[in-house]
Amino acid sequence: MDMRLLVDLPPGLDYNEWLASHTMALFDHVNLVYGAISEFCTPSGCPDMTGPGQRTYLWFDEKGKKTKVAAPQYIDYVMTFIQKTISDETIFPTKYANEFPSSFESIVRKIVRLLFHVMAHLYAAHFKEVVMLGLHAHLNLTFAHLTALHHRFSLIELKETEILRDLEVALRLTEDSTQEGGNNNDKSESSDVDSKSNLTEGSCGDNKS
Ligand SMILES: [Zn+2]
Repeated sequence: MDMRLLVDLPPGLDYNEWLASHTMALFDHVNLVYGAISEFCTPSGCPDMTGPGQRTYLWFDEKGKKTKVAAPQYIDYVMTFIQKTISDETIFPTKYANEFPSSFESIVRKIVRLLFHVMAHLYAAHFKEVVMLGLHAHLNLTFAHLTALHHRFSLIELKETEILRDLEVALRLTEDSTQEGGNNNDKSESSDVDSKSNLTEGSCGDNKS
């Protein structure tokens, strides 16, 4: 599997069209995994929207004011925003005559960044449940997809993605940029599960049923 081939823009295809289709696919996949574990992500179990390494995300409301919200609330805002945006014909046009707005790329950047936050929370706080439901391969594949898309088109800032750098290395997604993650690295063969379980420190909601 080489995700770089998956995300490389085919000749003759419109860049915005390409971004749109990948963004919608990523949304579907993240939505599916989060939907499956959402019963474990509760306001009491996850009072903060956490990611790995003490990262906490604050929600910017419509006036641009930062607010601390529980993870399920944050993710509900994210998913509602994305659903509304990709269903908006003036932003994600599906009809032939309609054009993408000039702000399209920045909207895609925002969506991809927010989806990254949701994945960061899944890895940091719910990886155990993801594994329990047999969805870890799916989550890893979605992460690989997002990372490849981001590497190809520089969609998210480094300060956002650095918290899952270990995972990128474990999944061998960064062999281009880091020498250590290259072809001769045998130790990463089976280390991805270990490195991810390390990320569950400080997680929320153990075994609530
Ligand atoms: Zn949670």
